[in-house]
Order: sequence, then C-alpha cells, then structure tokens
Amino acid sequence: MIFDQCEVAIIGGGPIGVEMAITLERLGVDYILFEAAQVGDAFMKWPPQTHFFSTPEHVALAGIPVHNLDQRSITGEQYLAYLRMLVEMFDLNLHNYEPVEAIRPYPEQFHVQTRHRTGLRTYACRYVVMATGGMAGPRLLHIPGEDLPHVTHYFPGPHPYFRTRLLIVGGRNSAVEAALRCWRVGASDIAISYRRPDFNYERIKPHLSGDLKDRLEKGEITFYPSTVPVEITPGYVTLASTEDGRTPNDRTFRHEMDFVYLATGFAANMNLFEETGVQLTGVEKAPVFDPETMETNVPRLFVAGTAAGGTQERFTYFISTSHDHVAKITKAITGIVPTKLGTVSARNNAVTWEEVKAN
Ligand SMILES: Cc1cc2nc3c(=O)[nH]c(=O)nc-3n(C[C@H](O)[C@H](O)[C@H](O)COP(=O)(O)OP(=O)(O)OC[C@H]3O[C@@H](n4cnc5c(N)ncnc54)[C@H](O)[C@@H]3O)c2cc1C
Repeated sequence: MIFDQCEVAIIGGGPIGVEMAITLERLGVDYILFEAAQVGDAFMKWPPQTHFFSTPEHVALAGIPVHNLDQRSITGEQYLAYLRMLVEMFDLNLHNYEPVEAIRPYPEQFHVQTRHRTGLRTYACRYVVMATGGMAGPRLLHIPGEDLPHVTHYFPGPHPYFRTRLLIVGGRNSAVEAALRCWRVGASDIAISYRRPDFNYERIKPHLSGDLKDRLEKGEITFYPSTVPVEITPGYVTLASTEDGRTPNDRTFRHEMDFVYLATGFAANMNLFEETGVQLTGVEKAPVFDPETMETNVPRLFVAGTAAGGTQERFTYFISTSHDHVAKITKAITGIVPTKLGTVSARNNAVTWEEVKAN
C-alpha cells in the first residue's frame, strides 16, 4: 500500500540533501527529504568542538552565508545550528528518523520503502536523489581487540584522557588534533602510530602542523612512523613495521597504553545503491553516473554529495565540490538551472516565481 507520494525523494539529510531540498522547495517541486537519523548526523559523529578545514564560504548552502563571530572556520556544532536554521527557514519537508531501506524501480516511478518507528512505509515518487554521504561507519582495521571497551573509532573529546596513556592510530587531521588536545588536557603519555613514513603537513590544518612539529621535537608526543597495529589487548598494542603503508612485516613491538583511538576514517555504505541496481566501480564502490546530470545507470535515480565518491579512500568530494551536483540534478529534473547555491549571495540572484513558471 502506498503511504504517500512525491515528485522527488531525497535520501540523506546532510548538507547536500538539505541544499537539494531548499532548491526544490524554491522551485515549488514536491519532495520529501528522508533522513535515517537527524539532520546533519555526520557532524554529530565529529569530535566535539572540531573546526572545519574549509572556511565558512566553502560550506555555505543555497546562497545563504555562514556568519560567525570571528570569521574563522566554524565548528561541527555551529554547522549543525546552521543546518537546523535552514530547515526551519524553508520549512523543509523533512522526515527524520526514517531510514530508506529499499528502492524499487518501476517504468514510471520508484517505490521507496522506509522504516518509520510505527512500521514499514512505501512512498511512490518519480525521481530519487541519493545524498547518503560517506560516513556510515568507521573504516575498520579488522584486527584482534578492535572491539575492546578501551578502543574507540569516535574521539569523544580530550577530557576522558587526563592522566592516562593514549595510543592514536592515524596521521591525518583527526589523529593530530586529538593528540594535541589530549596532550593539553594532561594525558600522561601520547603516541601516534601512522602507516606512512611521515605526516603530510600540507594536508594538516595550518595551526595544527606547527604545534605538532613542536611537540614532536620536544619529545612530548611519541611518533611511530611506518607502523600499523596488528593486535590490541587490554594492556598493550602490538605494532608492526610496514614498508608499503599497509602490509605488516615481522618486525613487531609492544606499546603499553590505557586507551586506543583508531582515527582511521569513515566509509560509505553502498548497499542501497547496489541493491537498487546502480553500477558500482573499483574498490571504492563509486557509483557510475553521467557527469552532466549526476544520473546513474538506473534512470531517474541521481547521486549527490560525497556519496558520489563511494567509500572515498582519498577524499575528492567535499561540501564545496558538491554544489554543482545539486545544480545538475535540478536542471535534469526541472530544466531550470538554480542560481542560488553554495556561497552565492541570495541578494544578488533572486529568481521570482514568475521567472520560474516562464522557464
Ligand atoms: C573531522 C572531520 C572533518 C571534516 N572537515 C571537512 C571540511 O573541512 N570540509 C568539508 O567539506 N568536509 C569535511 N568533512 C567531511 C564532511 O563531513 C562531508 O563533506 C559532508 O558531511 C558531506 O555531506 P553530504 O551531504 O554529502 O553527506 P553527509 O553529511 O554524510 O549526509 C548524509 C546523510 O544521509 C543519511 N543517510 C544515509 N543513508 C540513509 C538512508 N538509507 N536513509 C536515510 N538517510 C540516510 C545519513 O544519516 C546522513 O545524515 C569532515 C569530516 C570529518 C569526520
């Protein structure tokens, strides 16, 4: 039984799903924005008080600037407030806590099946936009002890680590930032194990890289380059050397610690794409799509945002590089190119309803 219907089902209430919804709302296109959890769920998984690498204009949506008090990069929490403000401002048709579990393509429409808290629901819609993002779960190492209680993939902030010994695995911004914050709150011993021979300082936030170099030079943080963990126990982690940044060799040693933070990143879950018949390529399971329209091999099913990169071993899709996905999909569905996207000022690009209808 069909519970409801709409022209476009947008799946995923992250920044790009929200920007897609605002764009359709402005054009008067009937849509539903389905979100498995809460709007901006990815930002609730960020460590508390983490700042964007991107500056505010790079994360602005739908032409509405991100104003803040100091004009610097905002935090995940500030962005959550911005996203909620957008939902309220446009009164978006958001169905939160309603994950989409299946999409069945028919010649003229899709049946989108969700799990509402009251039971399964089926919606009929003509188009589907998959904006499901790239942070469905942590990138697991699949080593013994990874699931022990003193091991986490989600950094809870520095406070739990006062006067404890912490081993951090990883060498990108999340690992470096956690190490510095924990050192400042008085962790008694911090070590970083990274599979590469050195940090890529160009890709580390500028204010962190100088600080890190200083701590390493002074021996305040221990660095184990070209190592990977092969086993975690309650008292120690066994680290092995690696030549290729991936495969452990026989040279191992034990590092004693109280806690382990595996800052190994996150990965998308591409199952819904696969089950709907979308062609996926490579180890990253990136969906195949027409770069002019973002339409996949399943007619009228589009991909937008970081989901376009699949599990993205190396990040190529960010918020700022995904605005044009919204533009292309809107054009493919309505024939209209939206003028208010990303950081474009709303004041300078007002499109009237008369103009929309005339188009
Ligand atoms: C510490 C950290 C720092 C970062 N810094 C930056 C930065 O500086 N700049 C930048 O651009 N990016 C940064 N990122 C990445 C950023 O989080 C992503 O670029 C951004 O979230 C992508 O937006 P999106 O809308 O494509 O997907 P997401 O924000 O991941 O949103 C996807 C949404 O889809 C929902 N969803 C998934 N499956 C379903 C389903 N079946 N049904 C319904 N809903 C579903 C999810 O719950 C989620 O809310 C950072 C990430 C981390 C972890």
